[in-house]
Amino acid sequence: MTPWICATCCVEFSPSLNPPARCPICEDERQYVGAGGQRWTSMSELGQSHTNQWVEIEPCLTGIGVNPSTGIGQRALLVQTDKGNVLWDCTPLITAETIAQIKSLGGVVAMTMSHPHFYAAMVSWSQALGGVPILLPEADKDHVMRPDPAITYWQGDALTIVPGVRAVRCGGHFAGSTVLHWAAGAGGDGILLTGDTIQVVPDAGWLSFMRSYPNLIPLPGHVVRQIAATVAPLEFDRLYGGWWDKFLLQGAHAAVQRSADRYVKALD
Ligand SMILES: [Zn+2]
Ligand SMILES: [Zn+2]
Repeated sequence: MTPWICATCCVEFSPSLNPPARCPICEDERQYVGAGGQRWTSMSELGQSHTNQWVEIEPCLTGIGVNPSTGIGQRALLVQTDKGNVLWDCTPLITAETIAQIKSLGGVVAMTMSHPHFYAAMVSWSQALGGVPILLPEADKDHVMRPDPAITYWQGDALTIVPGVRAVRCGGHFAGSTVLHWAAGAGGDGILLTGDTIQVVPDAGWLSFMRSYPNLIPLPGHVVRQIAATVAPLEFDRLYGGWWDKFLLQGAHAAVQRSADRYVKALD
């Protein structure tokens, strides 16, 4: 039995003898099945051609990606706190070296994800780290392709993962699209980890919001307003999106509000 991984979105499915017939994550209008049709891989196959990339981004924040990039380029972030480390987002590849590196930093007390496109091999990661709980918003339960007892669904608008680290549900791209607020990050100015709930764009100091990024489907103005209003009470100056080159080192709080205004104005 193999926990097959969709080659396009890199989401891992419940173990089966043969690959699943289809990938509901990719068939959804927010993703896509490539022109070549549905393709499957597995972690053992990925491990033959890929390695993990380990990047210390700033004190107590480490990025873990797959090299060369695969799927949609998923990258996880490890937030280290003295109350325990949190793994934000996930990747499709686990190596013994990465697990040893994480354990040398004290392991992980909880995993949580921005949205289903970053679920990747979360259940395998949980198992490799010793049965770490995976905390997901109930709103995205239908998008879980590998249900597991390690997954706990939370309801409501926010959940404290460890003291000082809080998952805040914004909605938008997915009903359960979440950001992670890390109060002590950036030397105490606060950091927001956003996946693509809030997307960093090339225009310096600006951000955006979409229902689908690959298919360029925008969000309604009232939803963009809701995302901006949800993060407005949070204190943060720095923002890291879901990819290596997507970050805003300062002024991120004002940038979210400014960018939401620009977006809604453009829709009008
Ligand atoms: Zn897929
Ligand atoms: Zn996405």
